[in-house]
Amino acid sequence: MASKTVKPGKTETVAQQELRERVDLPLVPGPGDYDAERDLILPKAHAEAEEKVPMGVIPNSPQAKAEHKEFLVYTSFKNLGTLAAIAWIITQPTGAVEWSAFAFFYVTTMLGHNMAHHRYFGHGAFKTSTPMRYALAILAQSCGIGSALTWVANHRRHHALTDRPGDLHSPFFDGMGKPLQGRKGFAHAQLGWAFDDCSTDMAIYGKGLQDDKVLVWAHKTRWVWFWMSGIVLPAAWGYGFGGTWQHALGTVLIAGCMRMVVTLHIISMLNSVCHLKGYRRYDSPGKDRNNVIVALLDMGEGWHNNHHAHPRSANNSAVWWEIDMTYWVIRGLEMVGLVWDVKRMPKGDGAGAPRLF
Ligand SMILES: [Zn+2]
Ligand SMILES: [Zn+2]
Repeated sequence: MASKTVKPGKTETVAQQELRERVDLPLVPGPGDYDAERDLILPKAHAEAEEKVPMGVIPNSPQAKAEHKEFLVYTSFKNLGTLAAIAWIITQPTGAVEWSAFAFFYVTTMLGHNMAHHRYFGHGAFKTSTPMRYALAILAQSCGIGSALTWVANHRRHHALTDRPGDLHSPFFDGMGKPLQGRKGFAHAQLGWAFDDCSTDMAIYGKGLQDDKVLVWAHKTRWVWFWMSGIVLPAAWGYGFGGTWQHALGTVLIAGCMRMVVTLHIISMLNSVCHLKGYRRYDSPGKDRNNVIVALLDMGEGWHNNHHAHPRSANNSAVWWEIDMTYWVIRGLEMVGLVWDVKRMPKGDGAGAPRLF
């Protein structure tokens, strides 16, 4: 990555300098273009390098305020519904109908995030047909974590500036590049970042996304898929298999609301836990780590250091025991011809003993 260390005391605060030295990461020189093909910032060395605002970040933007409102709706629906779900589980009989729905929507949410949001739209790890692109877009939106288009732009920013000022959900910096550590850093990376008063500059990280008809369609119709995933489909499952309104309501609370909260927190552990705890197989630019527990819970995304080292790969495992269930699904789709040109990690790469630090 073309980057240079900013002279201490010139554009860094003392705290930034101390943190940079501690985590031993270079600062990005300043505004530049994002090269989506290579996940790189192409720096423009000019006076703007002196800017305090990290590259590609818009402070106090109307977009950030709009996103806060949107996240507030998601958060209220999911959390109030989860409280009701807990009360329901304690006071009402629940069984195969509700919990099979929870398991089913848990898996579709993980695939929606891992395969659709992340590996396909985020990194182009494989190619597929237009109908499949729409199907993946619906799957992505059904995770209930917001617009796929915004997600991809945010994710490009995360890869371009991993664990440096400008990364939107690092445990080491807030969205404006202010150093964080400890519990505050963890909380910011887990969920707090979503309520930062700044947003991703789409002129830099959104390049090409606005021309993608499927992503724009997904963005425009995202509320339809959110309510389908949160209420309509769980209710249909509950009523269809249980035959009573009690089953319908119980399934909405457990497999709609509570499933969305559980999966959101597991997915968010990629930003927090997987940048703090685990082993590093590769010398990637950030502090990303492979975490076995997260990988098992989230169907393969937790091999996060492998991913940062090979972001374009459809598989995240470097050795056989790094189980990546999402890749098994991609491989299955490839075998039946629904996806093709699947990119994979170089064979044998990083197959040595994992390094703890
Ligand atoms: Zn990461
Ligand atoms: Zn990624």
